Amino acid sequence: MRNAQKLLAPVLELGCRGYVAPARWAARAAEEVAALDNSHRAPAGVIEVPSRLLMGPGPANAHPRILAAQTLPLLGHMHPPFLKIMDELSEGLRYTFQTNSKYTLMVSGTGHAGMEAAIANLVEPGDKVVVGNAGIWGERVAILSRRYQADVVEIKVPAGQTFSYEMLKRTLLEHKPAVLFLCQGESSTGTHQSLAGLGDLCRQTGTLLLVDTVCSLGGVPLFADQWGVDCIYSGSQKCLSGPPGASPFFMSERAMEKLQRRKTPPATYNLDMNLIGDYWGWFGKRSYHHTAPVSTFYAMREALALVAEEGLEAMWARHQELHHRLWDGLRDMGLKPFVEKNEDRLITVNTIKVPEGVDWAAVVKNAMDTYSLEIAGGLGPTVGKIWRVGIMGFNAKPQNVDLVLDAFRDGLKRQGKL
Ligand code: PMP
Repeated sequence: MRNAQKLLAPVLELGCRGYVAPARWAARAAEEVAALDNSHRAPAGVIEVPSRLLMGPGPANAHPRILAAQTLPLLGHMHPPFLKIMDELSEGLRYTFQTNSKYTLMVSGTGHAGMEAAIANLVEPGDKVVVGNAGIWGERVAILSRRYQADVVEIKVPAGQTFSYEMLKRTLLEHKPAVLFLCQGESSTGTHQSLAGLGDLCRQTGTLLLVDTVCSLGGVPLFADQWGVDCIYSGSQKCLSGPPGASPFFMSERAMEKLQRRKTPPATYNLDMNLIGDYWGWFGKRSYHHTAPVSTFYAMREALALVAEEGLEAMWARHQELHHRLWDGLRDMGLKPFVEKNEDRLITVNTIKVPEGVDWAAVVKNAMDTYSLEIAGGLGPTVGKIWRVGIMGFNAKPQNVDLVLDAFRDGLKRQGKL
C-alpha cells in the first residue's frame, strides 16, 4: 500500500465503498435515461502529491498545525461554535494589523479577492484613485480600479525602486484623490514601500490610504492605526503560513464612513463589505451572505494563534535575521541584490540579479530536480533579470535558507560560474 493510502485507510473504511444502492433513482417524467458516459470519470484512488520546499514568492509551506486544523469536522457556517471561530479570527487580525478597528475579517478568497473587495467598496464610479505602480501588483490594482470606473492616476517608478514621500506628497496635493494605493511588499521586484508620514498626508487631502500586504503581513512591521492606514488586504499563504484561500482584511472608521456614504452599492455582490461585514457581526447581528470556507477558516484561526504565540516582534526579527543569513551566503557567491538601496529591500521576497551569461532557468530547474526546492524567476518587469527567493512564515528557518544557498552554489557550479 502506498503511503497516502496507508494514512487514509481508516478514513476510507468509513466511506461508501462496497455499498451498492438499490436502483431506486429515477429520471423525471419524460427525461430520457441514456447509457452513462464514463469517459471523463475522475481518476480513482487516493491523491498523491510530491513533497516540496516552497521558497519562491509564495505560497510558502503551511505549518503542520495549520494543515491539521483543516481536517477537523465541518461545522455549519452559522453555527455558534463557528461564529466564535470567526470572532477569534477578527480579534487575531486586530493584533496582526495592530488596530482597534471593529472592521477586520477574512475575505473568502485569495489575495486578489481582498484586492477587489478593497477597490469595489472604497471606490465609487468617477472617484480619483492614485495607484503607486512599482511592479505587477500596482499595475493590477490600476486595471481593477478602471473596471470599477475609477479615474485612475498611475504613478510609476523603475522596477526595484520605491516611491519617495516627496513624490507621493506632490501627487496627493495635486490630485486630492479619494484613494491612494501602495503595495508594502512588491513581490515582483522585491521592494518594501515605506508608509511613513502617509497617513497624516492622506488625512490632509481627504484620501483613503489602501495598502497591499500580501507578501509582508507578519514578516515586517505594520501598525494600521498608528500609521493611519485605512484599508489593508493580505494573503494567507505567505508569512502567515496558511493555505491559500483567505484574505486578511481591514477597514478603518474613515473607510467605513465612505462605504456607508456611497450613493450606489458596490458593483459586486460577492465582495460587498456591507453584506460580508454583516455576516461577520460588524453591525451587531449576523446574516447569511455566503457559506464560509469552513476548513480554511479553521486553518487561519490556527495561523493567527501561532502569530499570537510567537508574537509579532519575534516574527519580524526572525524574518529579518534569515534575510541577512541568505544575503551573507549569496554575496559569498558573488551574487548581488536587484534592489539597489538597502532601505528599499523587502526581506520576505528577496530578488537577486541574474549575472551576465548565467542561465537563470537552469538554476531554478536544478533546484527543483535535485533538491525538490522551489525558487522562482522574475515576474512582470523582472522576467529573465532576477531570481526570487521567499523566506516566509513556517519556511523562515535557518536550515531552509542553507538549502537555498546549496542549490544556488550547485546550480552556478554546474554552469561553470562558480
Ligand atoms: N499582492 C502581492 C504583493 C502578491 O505577492 C500576490 C500574490 N503573489 C497578490 C497580491 C495576489 O494574491 P493571490 O495570488 O493570493 O490572489
